[in-house]
Amino acid sequence: MKILVANLGSTSFKYRLFDMGGAGEALLAEGGFERVTEYTPCIEEMLGRLADDGHLVNDEDLDAVGFKTVLGKDLSGCVEADARVLEALDGFKEVAPAHNPAYAEGIRCFERRLPKARRVALFETAFFQWVAPAASHYAIPKAWRDLGIRRYGFHGASHKFVAERTAELLGREDVATRARRLYVDGPGEFDGAPLRLVSCHLGGSSSVTGIRDGVAIGSSMGFSPQSGLPQNNRVGDLDSMAVPYACKMLGIDVEEAERQLNKESGLLGLSGVSNDARDIREAATAGNADAALAIDHLIDSIRHWAGSFVFKMGGLEAISFTAGIGENSPQLRSRVCAGLEDLGVIIDPAKNDACRGTEAEISAADSRVKVHVIPANEELVIAREVERFLQAN
Ligand code: ADP
Repeated sequence: MKILVANLGSTSFKYRLFDMGGAGEALLAEGGFERVTEYTPCIEEMLGRLADDGHLVNDEDLDAVGFKTVLGKDLSGCVEADARVLEALDGFKEVAPAHNPAYAEGIRCFERRLPKARRVALFETAFFQWVAPAASHYAIPKAWRDLGIRRYGFHGASHKFVAERTAELLGREDVATRARRLYVDGPGEFDGAPLRLVSCHLGGSSSVTGIRDGVAIGSSMGFSPQSGLPQNNRVGDLDSMAVPYACKMLGIDVEEAERQLNKESGLLGLSGVSNDARDIREAATAGNADAALAIDHLIDSIRHWAGSFVFKMGGLEAISFTAGIGENSPQLRSRVCAGLEDLGVIIDPAKNDACRGTEAEISAADSRVKVHVIPANEELVIAREVERFLQAN
């Protein structure tokens, strides 16, 4: 069964083509585009490449396209990417302006170009559907809650992959299976030994998630992907009173405040240098104090959320790092884990320094808590769910 996974990031377009089922899970092709402003030309270019390589010569060659949709109003889980999904994306386009319009454009483009392939969406919020109400609500009036304003959580496919892979690496097949089958079986009861994991997805967008025995207990991201940790150019957590205050004092309207919080904030806003962690680190090394502050703030936020989840889970067996920064920055990983010896976390500096973009355990042999770097593979999670969806529907 050939499944193409389309990952329409806020500034990038990545794709992976899988052959699922039968002989197993084979990755047939992958590629991507950076600094994307329009998705349709990228999709055309990708289809050309896949045709040239003989993977996708005509419509019949593809069973489905899977989409990693972000936030749907009144809709989550794994569903047919039809008019209902477009309506759900549209319903929350103001909340996820960097993501929802991109997916709507992508889904429409595939509908036109490959009408015979099924289109299936797995929402990023699906992984957080079992988070306790106490953790997913905000203390706001009922009329606001009725609008759907609550904590959702994002990067679900990435954190789910990390949950599965970490459990496999620790030899915990019971937890790996539970995580892998979560959307089919639900969490059910679990009576094995605890596996309390803090998963750190640190990239252009970043989030920290607490995962107990394969099931998420919360996320640093809340109502929108502009919350929790500082993002590349989008604000992280911010006191709600800051928005009306800044509007009044700067004489700007709410749309302008929204634009500044979505495009001129986060690591870019704080550093004044760039939205790219590599540029910011270079500037910090050269003595730029604002750049150093941006990195310090990112690390402080990661530790803040990680600490919160350890407290809520009542312990910690594993920490995993994934995505662009998490996979490639040993310095950041060691600073996140610094001074945690009393909690059982000891990083092996040599293993940590040697690990860039590859899967590895980076904790010391005598570290009670196991620390891993796990290259992101959100696309595989999507392909597996799409395959299951097609078999069931
Ligand atoms: P996205 O959320 O757009 O998919 P990625 O997971 O690709 O993001 O991560 C992009 C981020 O990873 C950028 O901030 C980039 O600077 C950072 N990154 C990539 N390589 C390195 C590196 N070698 N060291 C530090 N940061 C890196």
